[in-house]
Amino acid sequence: MSILTQNKLPLSSQRHFHTCPSLTIRTTRVHCLAATTTKRKTEPNQLVIEPRLVPPPPSKATGSTPPRLNDPSLQSTWSHRAWVASGCTTVLISLAKSIVGAANLHVWAEPTLAALVGYIVADLGSGVYHWGIDNYGGDSTPIFGAQIEAFQGHHKWPWTITRRQFANNLHALARAITFVVLPIDLICDDPIVLGFVSTCSGCIMFSQQFHAWAHMTKSRLPPLVAALQDLGILVSRSQHAAHHRPPYNNNYCIVSGVWNEFLDNQQVFEALEMLLFFKLGVRPRSWSEPNSDWTEETEAPSQLTPNL
Ligand SMILES: [Zn+2]
Ligand SMILES: [Zn+2]
Repeated sequence: MSILTQNKLPLSSQRHFHTCPSLTIRTTRVHCLAATTTKRKTEPNQLVIEPRLVPPPPSKATGSTPPRLNDPSLQSTWSHRAWVASGCTTVLISLAKSIVGAANLHVWAEPTLAALVGYIVADLGSGVYHWGIDNYGGDSTPIFGAQIEAFQGHHKWPWTITRRQFANNLHALARAITFVVLPIDLICDDPIVLGFVSTCSGCIMFSQQFHAWAHMTKSRLPPLVAALQDLGILVSRSQHAAHHRPPYNNNYCIVSGVWNEFLDNQQVFEALEMLLFFKLGVRPRSWSEPNSDWTEETEAPSQLTPNL
């Protein structure tokens, strides 16, 4: 999944902060207006900023300003493209070995069924992973920190995923798929296992693209993609839109979304959250009242309307 580097972006003081002429630190609009309308008229050079009125530094986990339309953090680099090429090659090797093995053994039903199971399991895996990084850890969490930061940023500015270039959006998962699947490709010749691995890993690697499509309007989608969404083969726009509405604790799966109804109706994630809370004492973010770091901001006027 993509790495959103909002914390590296310049602060936009126009939207959230108002800078008083005589001050060099950031403060809130309310505070500055108060200062402007009260003390500043009589004692313009003696403003005292009370610490409690200064907002805390922006959360590094979510940043404080959305990326600009052409922000470099949304562009693909050659490194991103190389990892996506590597991931695709790895998946294609497993698929090719599965087909060749099935042809040699004259067995097609089992590998095909295994591939179907891989597609279904990938949706479940995407939901479990998404739930985990939406709810636990932070940007300093080992290995997953960048992903957690990116997904929290995604909840604040969901529309950015539609501006993110293809390889930028997929490179992190493609790298993970390369490391996990390449060894399997090298040591396994079972067409059934490889059938499962190829579709499961392929769907997981492309889950961020399916996710991006779920944020686009139908008119912007390729007709085939819109048709696959309507058929429930790819996660639908309406289903994923529910994930971005309060209470922000459902519809985590982003491959086909076939697991969402079951997981939500059976309160599977709620049960896991309770288990983790009582065993480890950690609270998921979904238990907290949504705050400004979590809830969505609309696009700037110069940007297109969100596509939920
Ligand atoms: Zn989410
Ligand atoms: Zn989303």
